[in-house]
This record gives sequence, structure tokens and C-alpha cells, in this order.
Amino acid sequence: MDHIDLSVLYDYVFNDDMEVCGQIVRSADEPHKLVLHKLTRGQIDGTGRALCIQDDSKRIFHTHPYNAYAYPSVEDINKVSKRNTIKYSLIVTIWGLWIIEKIADRTINVLNDEVIDHATNRLGYQTKRFNRSEFQSKSIDYNDIVRYEVGAYLDTMNRHLAGNIMIYFKSWKHLDKEIYLK
Ligand SMILES: [Zn+2]
Repeated sequence: MDHIDLSVLYDYVFNDDMEVCGQIVRSADEPHKLVLHKLTRGQIDGTGRALCIQDDSKRIFHTHPYNAYAYPSVEDINKVSKRNTIKYSLIVTIWGLWIIEKIADRTINVLNDEVIDHATNRLGYQTKRFNRSEFQSKSIDYNDIVRYEVGAYLDTMNRHLAGNIMIYFKSWKHLDKEIYLK
């Protein structure tokens, strides 16, 4: 299994106010190592939606910096449904890492925006409750605060995505230094 070092992604989220996005590709020199590739940066708009342009790839990532929402947007989820090329989309936020994995090997119907908005409703409230340094110092464990909301969100979303796509979440506190992707 191939792995990627998460410390760079952590730094982007907490130390860069711009969104960073790009591809994750196999390292040319080290087998089983994944590296960031074709990085670009983009401005975040008022709703936390970012306009960072990225080429499709099997594995893509983007950050939601501190000033953006800490969970996937409607576009983030439906992009994986619509684009055949994408197998993994990593969304790196102040709470931790979201992984959207396409399980089905085909294009999938996109979810209704209302379904997603409803599922994310309670997450939005939680986003604004804490400041950057509290998360940065890892003095706050998301498990104490947003576990219920994140759990409910994942249940709802994964039920609607019906096994075609799976969404996972790992908080910074519970992440190892690396993660593995097929
Ligand atoms: Zn996003």
C-alpha cells in the first residue's frame, strides 16, 4: 500500500490562509511513497468555497484552511461522483482529514444539494466555535466536540452514497504521521 506524509498538509491548513490543491502521485524515487504534485493555490470565497484549479487525477487533495469550513462541500462530494478519473479525494481541514473514496468503477449520480446541505447543517455551527491556536496545539480533540455531528453526517452521507462512494474522517489527534491509499 502506498503512503503519504501528512505533516506538509497539516502545515498548509494551519499556516496558510489560501487553499492549496493538487494531485497525489507515486514518487519517482521511492516505491510506495506518495507525494504532492502540481500544487496550486486559490482564494477562498465568503462561503468557504475555494476556487483552486486542479487537474483530475486518481488521487487529488485540497485544503480547507482555517478560514474555511472544516468539512467537505457539496462540490467536493459531487466532483468525485462526476469524474471517472478520481478514485480518492482528500480534504484536509482544521479538524482532520476527510477521505472521499470512489468504490464503484464508474460515474455515479450526484446527490441532491439539499441532502448534503441538510447533512452538513450541524457541522457548520461547530466550525466557528474554536480558534486556530486551540486546534493547532491539539489541545482540543475533535472527539470531545464534534464526534456526534461528524458521526451523524457520515451515517447520512454514506447511506445516500449507497456504497458507490465512501466518506471517512480522521481527526488530527487520531491520525498517524502517514496514511495509506491503495
Ligand atoms: Zn473543498
